[in-house]
Amino acid sequence: MSRSYVIKPELGKTYPFISHGKGIYLYDKDGKRYIDGCSGAVTASIGHGVEEVAEAMYQQAKEVSFAYRSHFSSDAVEELGAKLAEWAPGSLNWTFFVSSGSEATETAQKIAIQYWQEKGRPTKNRIISRWMSYHGITMGALSMSGHVLRRKRFVPLLEDYPTITGPYPYRRPAGMSLEAYALECANELERAILRVGAEQVAAFIAEPVIGASGGAVVPPDGYFQRIREICDKYEVLFIADEVMTGVGRTGKAFGVDHWGVVPDLMTLGKGMSAGYTPMAATMVTDEIIETITQGSGLIMAGHTYSANPQSAAVSLAVLKYVEKHGLIEKAAEQGAYLLSRLQELADELPLIGEARGLGMLCGLEFVKNKETKEPFALSEGVASKVIAKAFEKGLLIYPAMGGIEGVAGDSIIVSPPLTITKEQIDELIALLKDAIVSVQQELKDKALI
Ligand code: PMP
Repeated sequence: MSRSYVIKPELGKTYPFISHGKGIYLYDKDGKRYIDGCSGAVTASIGHGVEEVAEAMYQQAKEVSFAYRSHFSSDAVEELGAKLAEWAPGSLNWTFFVSSGSEATETAQKIAIQYWQEKGRPTKNRIISRWMSYHGITMGALSMSGHVLRRKRFVPLLEDYPTITGPYPYRRPAGMSLEAYALECANELERAILRVGAEQVAAFIAEPVIGASGGAVVPPDGYFQRIREICDKYEVLFIADEVMTGVGRTGKAFGVDHWGVVPDLMTLGKGMSAGYTPMAATMVTDEIIETITQGSGLIMAGHTYSANPQSAAVSLAVLKYVEKHGLIEKAAEQGAYLLSRLQELADELPLIGEARGLGMLCGLEFVKNKETKEPFALSEGVASKVIAKAFEKGLLIYPAMGGIEGVAGDSIIVSPPLTITKEQIDELIALLKDAIVSVQQELKDKALI
């Protein structure tokens, strides 16, 4: 069979061919079964092969798949927008549909900048973000991302935005309480705004739980409440990037709901369509929509596939499935069990520095020395080794390597579909333990630990 299709950037590597999926399992064409321990890219949150979604897809395709948004609205789009407004906190009542998380964050960046232009304050156009963050792969989204590995080739082409340090409780200064650390980290935003000048700052963007660049790093209580206060004080919009955390993944509808904080803009992706179709969104408040409506009246963003009825119908079917099966509550309950099992592994295995997470978004950080928390050099590729070993054994795990050498080591994300049962979690943990133990042994044999 021809191998001319570039599936992944790892050229020269071959991949098994996917055959089909059911629930938390995927099967390749050689008949091997995999537990989808990370929902692909923290995406397939309702599991694979869900009939209701396939049915909704088919029904919409029979009626009409594509009608351009500047010609038509559709029942699917209107109903999906209404459902998201019902789920979202505060007055985040407006949804701009796109097709990927990167488009969603870049649209948020543009809307934030446009909002201040419409207010007659065009110098407010910088976006503050954090080291150890990932907001997408396109140039605007990458400009706001602190994922060093993904940025470094393109730095000359990126916007030189101010960047602050996000909370990383595992590596906080020795002896500092979590309460003090939460305030210290949040106050860094205030100092950055004062350095740049509030009149230059449009927005601050953050993931409620750090995903791809950190491995499910949960901020201490109080952090986002203080961030909200600072944003209000200096008239800076707060963009919550919920691409990974949104739609139930962390055991609440949205990550920010854990701290009762309402952002001005919120981005969604991944779990919004659970992998059944490319779909993502940027949600904004009444205030933002009213300002733009009274101003130019046109949001200067959008793509061909924005708000197409086909993707909307699929995403709507996914949200209804999440509601019908109580998957947000399940994510909280089973997620707590998953974390307790990961914690047991961390207690037992010297390679694991910390197990952490919120709901069904969990992570493990690997360390060279558990006492000193010394990280591995990135070149040692420890997380990659664990991921490869797990794959061999039939378990899929997601990498979380921010690439900040010497600051953080390699981490992985464990984020199975929200539908996973206790027994299946036990099955997942057994395979993961096997994989980690064999990498640990390999490192010992090479005298690397
Ligand atoms: N934001 C966050 C928080 C993400 O985790 C990701 C993807 N890992 C993105 C944005 C980008 O989404 P996409 O890959 O769909 O462009």
